[in-house]
Amino acid sequence: MTHAGAANGYDVVVLGGGVAGCVLAARLSEDPDRSVCLVEAGRDYGPGAGGWPRTALDARALPRDHVWERHTAAHRIRARVIGGSSCVNGCWNTWARCTAHPL
Ligand SMILES: Cc1cc2nc3c(=O)[nH]c(=O)nc-3n(C[C@H](O)[C@H](O)[C@H](O)COP(=O)(O)OP(=O)(O)OC[C@H]3O[C@@H](n4cnc5c(N)ncnc54)[C@H](O)[C@@H]3O)c2cc1C
Repeated sequence: MTHAGAANGYDVVVLGGGVAGCVLAARLSEDPDRSVCLVEAGRDYGPGAGGWPRTALDARALPRDHVWERHTAAHRIRARVIGGSSCVNGCWNTWARCTAHPL
């Protein structure tokens, strides 16, 4: 399928396969009567860790090989890859309290 024709004929086109776009596309596609096209500018390495580059799997470092802007401070980088910036954020911070999410 060509890029130009990829989104033709869908009920909904979601631009950007970051966390927000993936969740939105997944929820919208739960309706079997609605067709959804998720368009991502970066690569999709597929399900599972097998096809992903090592840099994206190592949470000890912030990978720079999928960032939009090459010369941006680490806390401002954004990733161009399916999964978006969450693929490079290294889980620096957790904003919720554990007590707010009992297991
Ligand atoms: C270094 C760093 C550390 C962080 N640490 C944390 C943390 O510890 N905890 C936390 O909760 N959050 C953290 N964040 C923030 C978190 O990663 C982001 O808030 C979150 O990933 C944003 O998700 P999003 O889906 O809104 O956008 P993004 O993840 O940026 O996704 C946008 C997607 O859209 C795609 N896109 C853009 N334009 C187009 C286009 N024209 N056509 C097609 N596709 C396009 C991009 O390629 C990208 O995949 C961190 C962020 C960074 C950069």
